[in-house]
Amino acid sequence: MKYISTRGEAAPLAFEDVVLTGLAPDGGLYVPENLPKFSQQEIASWAGLSYQDLAFKVIAPFVAGEVPDADLKKIIDDSYSTFRHDAIAPMVQTAHNEWVLELFQGPTLAFKDFALQFLGNLLDYILKKRDQKVVVMGATSGDTGSAAIEGCRHCDNIDIFILHPNNRVSDVQRRQMTTVLENNVHNIALEGNFDDCQNMVKASFGDQSFLPEGRQLVAVNSINWARIMAQIVYYFYAGLALGAPARPVSFSVPTGNFGDIFAGYLARQMGLPVDQLVIATNANDILHRCISANDHSKKELIHSLSPSMDIMVSSNFERLLFDLYGRDGAAIKQLMEDFKGGTAMTLSEEALSGARELFSSYRLGDEETIDVIRDVFENTEYLLDPHTAIGVQAARKTRRRQDIPMICLATAHPAKFPEAVRKAGQDEDPALPHHMSDLFDREERFEVLEKDLTKVQQHIAANVRA
Ligand SMILES: *Cc1c(COP(=O)(O)O)cnc(C)c1O
Repeated sequence: MKYISTRGEAAPLAFEDVVLTGLAPDGGLYVPENLPKFSQQEIASWAGLSYQDLAFKVIAPFVAGEVPDADLKKIIDDSYSTFRHDAIAPMVQTAHNEWVLELFQGPTLAFKDFALQFLGNLLDYILKKRDQKVVVMGATSGDTGSAAIEGCRHCDNIDIFILHPNNRVSDVQRRQMTTVLENNVHNIALEGNFDDCQNMVKASFGDQSFLPEGRQLVAVNSINWARIMAQIVYYFYAGLALGAPARPVSFSVPTGNFGDIFAGYLARQMGLPVDQLVIATNANDILHRCISANDHSKKELIHSLSPSMDIMVSSNFERLLFDLYGRDGAAIKQLMEDFKGGTAMTLSEEALSGARELFSSYRLGDEETIDVIRDVFENTEYLLDPHTAIGVQAARKTRRRQDIPMICLATAHPAKFPEAVRKAGQDEDPALPHHMSDLFDREERFEVLEKDLTKVQQHIAANVRA
């Protein structure tokens, strides 16, 4: 399987190289040249498979010819053995024909574990095979950092450096990162905001000469294709559990960078019968404005109670645009360059109507989010985290057919976001799951650094293991 860039100029790459490359040299994102497609008969034959066995069926065609079956199976088994729940992605019913898909049973209590446990094991495998060592560098406003650290902590050939804005992530989120004490894990608390962290990472990817000889940076954000790929699996898993492919299902997805919901779109393109795909956003609503009013323009960032969706521009949207524009790389290059230069992007009539056929969208502010957490708790005693609450309400507001199961993706455990939960009327912070109950007693280790690119890069160079 070959992978091509959405901007049409970079040379196609094989799977393993795509995993190590991140952004394409032409600025685009990699996508498979040909998406695997499954017949209804084949999908039906998967009913009842374990999560791991299903993951193998879905992922195998993407790595065909590069990772032997037995090795892929082991990578998958290792990745999901760290989840607390036997079902890996269990479902809970919250209303008539409405389900919450709990994607927070992994080590860091957010759905990012699905992709990053897998990516860590995959990188370890590829690097050992090639006898190569790399440096993972990333910026986080919360969930990505801890999930990436958990994914890479046991990888001999990776040194990982995660930048977070000092004093600007929640205590739970910081401790999930800083209490991992393996000597290949490095947390940098930058004296700046999340954008400063991200800018340092971008600049470092652009010029990697500060690294020791023979090392390169690897990206673990959702521009990395392997992350999207791993997320396709749970759409099939939930759909099969509720009767697909014999009957269709719908999904509602709390969305930030458009990675998670793009995986849902791919599941549909690969043969899963999906009726509705709902884009659920908080006040940072560029995607909702784009779908509902063809207004894809940058607005100032708003800090919300659902911080993992606080984004100005969704990087993975480019992958969808590539399909909406008939996979015309030159058109996407032009569109993205114009957008970078200005502040707004207007989709062509054809692209817009294509997007509207595929997606519904809805936006929720903080107040409505709190109301939803409270309402659902009063009705069911089930506690939603603020991101999930946005998905549930977006589903209820945009739903076309009550007879089709609606699956709302629960992207985080409520214990990660106690502030919103308190505001919704809970007297106490939600309890952390048992395996993390001593989080606040654990030793922390991190380095506070000035907002100075040279100093950050010197710190990294000095701490990469020989
Ligand atoms: C990252 C994250 C999201 C957004 O996911 P995208 O793939 O960026 O759309 C939603 N909820 C939670 C809890 C997250 O951590």
